[in-house]
Amino acid sequence: MTVTKILNLLKEEERYQENTINLIASENYPEKIILQTYSNIISNKYSEGYPGKRYYSGVKFVDEIEAIAIEKAKQLFGAEHANVQPHSGTQANMAVLFAVLNSGDTILSADLGSGGHISHGNKFSFSGKFFNIVHYNLDESTNLINYEKIRELARKYKPKLIIVGYSSYPRKIDFSKFKEIAGEVNSYLLCDIAHIAGFVCTGLHQNPCSFADFVTLTTHKSLRGPKGGIILCKNKYAEQIDRMVFPGIQGGSLNNIIAGKAICFELALKNEFKKYIQTLVDNSRVFYQSLIKNKFDIVSGGSDNHIILIDLRNKNIDGHAAQEVLEKANILVNKNLIPFDKNSPVKPSGIRIGTLGITTRKFSKKDIIKVADIISDILNNLKDENKILEKRKIVEDICKKYPIYKE
Ligand SMILES: *Cc1c(COP(=O)(O)O)cnc(C)c1O
Repeated sequence: MTVTKILNLLKEEERYQENTINLIASENYPEKIILQTYSNIISNKYSEGYPGKRYYSGVKFVDEIEAIAIEKAKQLFGAEHANVQPHSGTQANMAVLFAVLNSGDTILSADLGSGGHISHGNKFSFSGKFFNIVHYNLDESTNLINYEKIRELARKYKPKLIIVGYSSYPRKIDFSKFKEIAGEVNSYLLCDIAHIAGFVCTGLHQNPCSFADFVTLTTHKSLRGPKGGIILCKNKYAEQIDRMVFPGIQGGSLNNIIAGKAICFELALKNEFKKYIQTLVDNSRVFYQSLIKNKFDIVSGGSDNHIILIDLRNKNIDGHAAQEVLEKANILVNKNLIPFDKNSPVKPSGIRIGTLGITTRKFSKKDIIKVADIISDILNNLKDENKILEKRKIVEDICKKYPIYKE
């Protein structure tokens, strides 16, 4: 009974994903070949340790796969050392923090409203519980990074670690300025490129690997790989980082996911992948220009990547309500804090949209404009249930043109 139920729900999910326009900026669709690694029986194996230094026998193929994943990760990002075992981006960050900090040490990082991640010191996360957190914000007039303000905070608080990296920042980041600041106050620098990893490895965003102490990322966002995290660092930190991932904070690694990561890195090294990342940016521009035409207020006025942050205050609707009504029309977005938001994360003033999913599905520019118009139409007519149903039909028709996995 339960088995049938679960299998049916999984089938339903497949149909739902095909019939939904997914604008959640952290989600993407990996190649089928990567999905196939998820269910491989190599996941049955225990492989605590690292290639050539395992605590279990029978891991010769696991060793080969992980060694390839490590080599490809280093090649892709130009890094000295890679640990490909973190189960998620949060765990990658956790390993770095626990590797170099003692409890009570000071971290300087962005707050949630500026687009920082929970694992950067939010009080509900491990990162906020063990360490002394000082947050920096964006510039109040431009909603851009204010490097001088961050320099002042660094001088004042002398953090042991500075974290830079965002979940909802639509603009480029000058990591080298953060390096300068970290150098001045002698603190470690962690660059969290979870969202922009695909931009960094293709040269479409500044790559911090040559100068940052640590770089963490997720493989499932712009990299189009399996759900997971990795850590890149200088050789001098390799042992410290590896020992903190295992046995520090994780047990056995997910061998099937590591196989998927290896394939993902290989695909990201190809020329087509750079074109894909460029298309993400082009599609963002088409999207936010249509939204601006529809009188939406775009935080920072636009986007240099796949992320568009919409300030909904001029539309008299909060992010939560917008997310809910769009879901009824099979359009998925997520509610998001905007810089200096007066509302709580439960009912924030904005929504975040991203172009990863629709770019992977190869949406045409014309259809992207159509989607922006539909969003506008729905948010301007919240109570009109008939209109919402009518829009859902249109959304489903658009989706039929762009199958994800069913060809
Ligand atoms: C997504 C994200 C992470 C980690 O995400 P997980 O869900 O833990 O894999 C970390 N940092 C940033 C900036 C992110 O956007």
